[in-house]
Amino acid sequence: MQTDVFIGLGSNLQEPAAQLARAVAELAALPDTTLIAQSPFYASRPVGPQDQPDFVNGAVWLSSRLVPHALLDQLQAIEQAHGRERLRHWGPRTLDLDLLVFGSQTLNDDRLIVPHRELPNRDFVLQPLLDLKPDLTLPDGTTIVTLRTQCPDNRLRRLPPPDYP
Ligand code: AMP
Repeated sequence: MQTDVFIGLGSNLQEPAAQLARAVAELAALPDTTLIAQSPFYASRPVGPQDQPDFVNGAVWLSSRLVPHALLDQLQAIEQAHGRERLRHWGPRTLDLDLLVFGSQTLNDDRLIVPHRELPNRDFVLQPLLDLKPDLTLPDGTTIVTLRTQCPDNRLRRLPPPDYP
């Protein structure tokens, strides 16, 4: 069964926009998975410690046959391949991939909370989701539009499309 899946991407180290562009290509190449669309990228101020560079964030819409935990394994393997080290909570990172929405499923176990717990509090997650699918709704019926209007402002700046060779 194919499921519509939304993944959040973030980076604030080692050419963040290039990290994200590479990660999008890697997500598109996952087994049993198709890339439906990718959002624009946004620059945003860091959450938590402020003594670190701004983040670049975006999101992708995938259609996948993977089950949620297999998909999380794949996301974590991509993070590792980008040299991710967990130095401090909410600290700088080369790549962060979050499973934001997995169809109409709700999950809550020791590895996965879906929809992602911080989704309602992060404009840099909600805005790319709106760009991808303006009528997106969470399993409990909450619309992303509503969450976006209620969300704290993190001074999002939409970046021009990347210009890679
Ligand atoms: P972080 O990389 O700081 O976002 O946190 C990664 C940890 O969050 C991992 O141990 C995951 O098992 C856990 N986690 C829980 N829910 C999610 C989710 N929806 N997406 C990604 N990681 C999640």
